[in-house]
Amino acid sequence: MTAYDANNIFAKILRGELPCYKVYENEHVLAFLDIMPRAPGHSLVIPKTPSRNIFDISPDDYAHVARGTHKIARAGMKAFKADGITVQQFNEAAGGQVVFHLHMHMMPRRDGIALLP
Ligand code: C5P
Repeated sequence: MTAYDANNIFAKILRGELPCYKVYENEHVLAFLDIMPRAPGHSLVIPKTPSRNIFDISPDDYAHVARGTHKIARAGMKAFKADGITVQQFNEAAGGQVVFHLHMHMMPRRDGIALLP
């Protein structure tokens, strides 16, 4: 598998070299608004470990990402008066991944309203 690239955009956000709109942070993960939201409140949860995707992250670090997603999904339901939440996570280009630092999408949804493309 391809090695982790420390110059990916999310690594730069973690190092403070690029800005983000932070929605949650703890010692293990950072969550911030997606720059091209597919729904209001669309956020990403990323591990602070240098992890390309599900194939190189440890189960424990993946669990930290899941815990962060669990937290912001509940907050997103309230903050955006959502009817539901979509959680998605892509792995490698063939799996739809574009930025190669593992990230979980959290998208608040409203009844009858499709995600933006
Ligand atoms: O397909 P994948 O989940 O890898 O897509 C990357 C996501 O990262 C996109 O939703 C894109 O809008 C988001 N992104 C971002 N900030 C950037 C670059 C990409 O939120 N600076």
